[in-house]
Amino acid sequence: MKDVMTEPFLSIEDLVVEYPLSRKAKVHAVSGLTVSVEQGKTLGLVGESGCGKSSAARAVMQLPPPTGGRVTLDGQELTGLKGKALQQARRRFQMIFQDPIASLNPRQTVREILSAPLEIAGEQESPEERDARIIAMLDKVGLNGEQAISRRPHEFSGGQCQRISIARALILRPDLLVCDEAVSALDVSVQAQTLNLLEDLKAEFGLTMLFISHDLAVVKHVSDTVAVMYLGMLCEMADATTIYRKPAHPYTRTLINAVPEPDPDAPRKALELVPGELPSPINPPSGCRFRTRCPMATDLCAAETPQPKELAPGHSVACHHPLI
Ligand code: SF4
Repeated sequence: MKDVMTEPFLSIEDLVVEYPLSRKAKVHAVSGLTVSVEQGKTLGLVGESGCGKSSAARAVMQLPPPTGGRVTLDGQELTGLKGKALQQARRRFQMIFQDPIASLNPRQTVREILSAPLEIAGEQESPEERDARIIAMLDKVGLNGEQAISRRPHEFSGGQCQRISIARALILRPDLLVCDEAVSALDVSVQAQTLNLLEDLKAEFGLTMLFISHDLAVVKHVSDTVAVMYLGMLCEMADATTIYRKPAHPYTRTLINAVPEPDPDAPRKALELVPGELPSPINPPSGCRFRTRCPMATDLCAAETPQPKELAPGHSVACHHPLI
């Protein structure tokens, strides 16, 4: 039975995702990621493209299952579930993808798109009951359900397609919603509308969210806690305000410095990266993976992988020489 006092709602422990390239080489996409999310909260997972955040999201969804580690949702271990058991569990966790148009089958009507998860889950209902359910969900995401149900994706804008994707993800009333760069492909004004919609739906449905993005400003807007990843490893985790006001990891500081500041005269604590390419996840640097770009790197950083240390309650950093 779940121990509600000690066990977080979503727990990701020592997650490893590797993709074999040949007998000797593999991509180290995620290496030992440990994070957790309380029920009804949002964890933002942020980092440059290629840092492993989308691989981590797919591993949480068991798409495919991770190479190693555990993912537990509300006390149920998802890693290791197969066949019918995984299908049954899946109704509790759903995902929204980056490209809203590509994620919808252009040949299907919205009715067929939203019926698919209900059919897979074996929901028993008459066609009239199903239509009513689909229309109600489309209304909830801000579309005119009566009009939208018989149309096809090409008849909608990108923002409307993302609303259909959200409706598809929520129609089974999941507990966990994983958003993988869910607003990156949208215009800025549509991004804001979609983020506000997600916030409203999170409150109404009591959702727990894992929000993946390369955009710190977007993550700050939606997240209770922010976890920063670099080259497959966790750098820093704290509540959203602390991460922005008191970043302790040099990589977090450089990410925050890169966010455009509305006040051009506002003081910025610059931290210049060592020039060079992002290292390859096939052959990541020894010790701290950020050391080849970090201006503060020492011999210790090459010799030993820094482990996450708690600086304050809820604020942990994996760095031998944190900034605070
Ligand atoms: S461990 Fe060393 S190389 Fe890594 S971020 Fe900290 S100071 Fe930089």
